[in-house]
Amino acid sequence: MLRRLVRAVIFDRLHLCPHCASSRLNVREECSACRSPQLSQETFIHHFRCAYQATERHFGNRDSLTCPKCRRRLRHFGVDYDRPGTARVCGACSHADADAAIGFVCIDCGAHSDAARVDIRDWYAYALSASGEHRLISGDLRRLRPTNATDAELFHALAEHWLRIQSRYGRPSVVLRLAFLRAASVQADQGQRVLLAARRQAVEIVRGEMRDTDLMIETPEGLLVVLPETEERAVDAPQRRLLKRLSSLMAIDLGIDIRPIDPREMSLAETSATS
Ligand SMILES: [Zn+2]
Ligand SMILES: [Zn+2]
Ligand SMILES: [Zn+2]
Repeated sequence: MLRRLVRAVIFDRLHLCPHCASSRLNVREECSACRSPQLSQETFIHHFRCAYQATERHFGNRDSLTCPKCRRRLRHFGVDYDRPGTARVCGACSHADADAAIGFVCIDCGAHSDAARVDIRDWYAYALSASGEHRLISGDLRRLRPTNATDAELFHALAEHWLRIQSRYGRPSVVLRLAFLRAASVQADQGQRVLLAARRQAVEIVRGEMRDTDLMIETPEGLLVVLPETEERAVDAPQRRLLKRLSSLMAIDLGIDIRPIDPREMSLAETSATS
C-alpha cells in the first residue's frame, strides 16, 4: 500500500566500507602496484636514436638529459627526443603507470578497500503519489489500520509537516481531539467487537461532517480532526455540530469528549499501536 501512496526517486548513492559499513570514506588516487597515495606526475621521454623510453627522472636533470641506455646527451627537443605523455609515478615504489588506481580508506575503522570491493547503498527520496495526495486531502486515513503502522506514521508525519507549513505562513488551523472516554467500560461490558463497531460508526459520522480539506487520523484514544483555514475562536460551531451529530446517531455511548488542542501537541505517540 505504501508503494502506491508514495513515489520513490533515487536521491543518492553511498559507498560503504566492506568492514564496518560506514560511508565516511576517503577516496584517493593510489599507486596501482603498492597502493601508496604518494603519486606525482612525470613526463615520459623518448630517445629517437635508440628508441629508449622512460620517465624523465631516468634521464638525469632537466638541464642536461642523458639517455640511460646509450649514454648519449639529448640536446634538441623534436630532433633527439620528444615527450610522448605523462605517467603517475609512485614515490614509495617508483612504479610508473599511465593511470592511478582508485582506493577508499574508511575514516571510522581505517580499513583500506579497492574501488571494486566497496559496497553501495542507494537512498531514495519519497513524494506523495497522486493517489496518496488524494487520500491525504480527502482525509480518508481510516483504512491505514494499525497492521500497517508505518503507513499511519507516514501520513501522520506528512500531516505534521503540512501543519508546520501552515503555521510558518501564518495560516490558521485547528486540531480537534475526540476521545472515547467510555471505551474501556464499553469493552468490559459488551466486548471488543461492540467497541470496534461503535468506533467505526463514530468515524463514519465524523467523516460525514468534514469538509473536503479536513483531515482525520485515528488514535488509540479516539480521533484527531485537522481543520485547516479555521480560526481558533471559530471552532465552537464545528465542535458543537460534531457532538450533536454523534450523540443523536450513536447507538452506543462511547462518552465522546471533543476539544481543540494545539497542533503542536500532535505527536506520533498518539497514533502508535492502536488495537
Ligand atoms: Zn607504489
Ligand atoms: Zn638512447
Ligand atoms: Zn570501516
